[in-house]
Amino acid sequence: MILVQKYGGSSVATVERIAQVAERVVATVQEGHQVVVVVSAMGNTTNELLQLARQVSAAPGRRELDMLVSVGERISMALLSMAINDRGVPARSFTGSQSGIITDESHSNARVVAVRPQRLRAALDEGCVAIVAGFQGVSRDKEVTTLGRGGSDTTAVVLAAALGAAWCEICSDVDGVYSADPRQVPEALKLGELSLDEALTLARAGGRVLHDEAVAYAHRHGIGLLISATGEADPGTRIQVPPLPPRVATLAADPDLEVFETRDLPALLEALWVARATIRWASGDEVLVDLRNWPDRAAFALPEGTRSRGRACVVTAAGSGIGLRADLAARGLGALAAAGIALQAWSMQSEALRFRVDPESGAAATRCLHAALIGDQTAC
Ligand code: ASP
Ligand code: MG
Repeated sequence: MILVQKYGGSSVATVERIAQVAERVVATVQEGHQVVVVVSAMGNTTNELLQLARQVSAAPGRRELDMLVSVGERISMALLSMAINDRGVPARSFTGSQSGIITDESHSNARVVAVRPQRLRAALDEGCVAIVAGFQGVSRDKEVTTLGRGGSDTTAVVLAAALGAAWCEICSDVDGVYSADPRQVPEALKLGELSLDEALTLARAGGRVLHDEAVAYAHRHGIGLLISATGEADPGTRIQVPPLPPRVATLAADPDLEVFETRDLPALLEALWVARATIRWASGDEVLVDLRNWPDRAAFALPEGTRSRGRACVVTAAGSGIGLRADLAARGLGALAAAGIALQAWSMQSEALRFRVDPESGAAATRCLHAALIGDQTAC
């Protein structure tokens, strides 16, 4: 059975942690699996490389930036491969291009358009562990591209789909998906399982444990995900294909959205599409865009008829069949009103209840909704 395991930057931040990952991979091989490992850059490497670029150039070109930052993952892949080989298990490392990750030409935020993992398959057939540099691919005109921040998750999921893997395990310092961000809501519970629909709603609502593009790809291809902590034996959260019984599974807050108001929706939407901005909410003449993953905001020229109206936060309650539960909507709205939190707007969809508030109220709204919809109702 083929398994894909992805290790995040903190899991490979030091040589000691790389050794720990090597042990974990060897244990997985000894369980009888064929293993493809996708790695992120060590610790803060990607940010450090970007800072270096800024020191030599005020406006570094995107092609050169991709040449630079793709190196981060290559360091991890080679070191991990050496560490695994040292433990008596053959391993071979591959760049994104060698792994057959073909993308469009959009440097620094490329989309995967095809996956041809013949070399990985051959390595697996020879009994090797294949170690892949995450976050990067190659365009059809043979240029190195990168997939956007956090893109190693996408690498792992697209490879899992192309190789017909049973599972794609995302290993990091986070031990699973919680009913809310535990830093914001201390009583948040770890979830044993989540449906792919719930996971997609959570990822699109700004839940940072899950990378939205990676989950969208897993959702489209029916790939099961396992979210686990690298250093812990505890099973994490299984994200499965089949829908689960109706419930409120989890809350996510998207704390930094910019509100655009427009008289020309087609022009604004087209401009946002070209700028690769992620829209988190759109209704009437307003479009709310995620600022956390939009490095080019400063260069974005507002189309005629559009103005910026400041910031908003959207708190989303995600869960199977939640849109059929008017009682839950009533409870959430009632709790916010009782807590004196002003609501700008709200919406009810098949998998989500969404509450739009001022950015300053985001944390309080999340705690309040967690108490009302998931936890102890008297705590609000
Ligand atoms: N190293 C890249 C980043 O920091 C990609 C990743 O970690 O997934 O965004
Ligand atoms: Mg992206």
